[in-house]
Amino acid sequence: MTGASQQLAPAGPRPSHPANGEPMIDVRDLTKVYGEGLTAVHALGGVNLVVRSGEFVAIMGPSGSGKSTFMHLLGCLDRPTSGSYRLAGQEVSRLGGDELALVRNRRIGFVFQSFNLLPRTTAQENVELPLLYAGVPREARVRRAQELLEQVGLGDRRDHRPSELSGGQQQRVAIARAMANGAPLLMADEPTGNLDSASSVEIMTLFRRLNRDQGITVVLVTHDANVAAWSERVVTFKDGLIIDDRPSAEAVAPAVREGALRAASSGEARV
Ligand code: ADP
Repeated sequence: MTGASQQLAPAGPRPSHPANGEPMIDVRDLTKVYGEGLTAVHALGGVNLVVRSGEFVAIMGPSGSGKSTFMHLLGCLDRPTSGSYRLAGQEVSRLGGDELALVRNRRIGFVFQSFNLLPRTTAQENVELPLLYAGVPREARVRRAQELLEQVGLGDRRDHRPSELSGGQQQRVAIARAMANGAPLLMADEPTGNLDSASSVEIMTLFRRLNRDQGITVVLVTHDANVAAWSERVVTFKDGLIIDDRPSAEAVAPAVREGALRAASSGEARV
């Protein structure tokens, strides 16, 4: 390691260091088969993975390797064909649709590549929506959404509709919405896929801050090493299996990682 990259390396262990966290995600021998008989597709062939509370994990791998299938299972949007999935200590692999929805609402915030905001609705109302579904009374809802928008740096954009916001700002609204119910786990599928590089830095700075300051566990899928460089750990899929799992300092080329760390330190100074 060069002197410069040592200077850029993040500070040492923090209170919520992953090594101290309880398992948030504990997956054993997870399989997923789509269809039956001759046309059956074995999308996941027996995956094992533990992600501890407070970790920041990037999932990579070529197209068709099973990343989306795995994220759907982790996000309780679908059920595995076999195997076990314990989410925050609760076995969820055999839950029915309604029970899965409850787990999802309580424990997981989702961030998508295309933001998925309601178009004719203000930033404030978009963030309030999950709170409305959760039955939070109006006054508390308004207050919480205001706080969340302030946390993502959009306190002055509350009344703007998505079309009046930049891509990066829209994704920040989506992140505020994902956090509305206080979920301890944020899952993101190519969250910077529709953003230019400056906005990507903005979004990754935000994920990193939520992870470090609030101990939120972050799991994101990306094909971009520049994005994976912001994580602490890179898990790589191929043909429905995990073929590599290592610290991002080892998985990502030093030059790419140094770029991310440099952006992180200047980004953190700004946000
Ligand atoms: P990735 O996200 O890495 O591109 P996917 O999880 O989408 O990979 O796909 C893994 C494999 O499962 C692929 O062969 C894909 O064609 C197949 N697959 C994904 N979803 C379905 C589905 N709903 N029905 C049938 N096959 C599917």
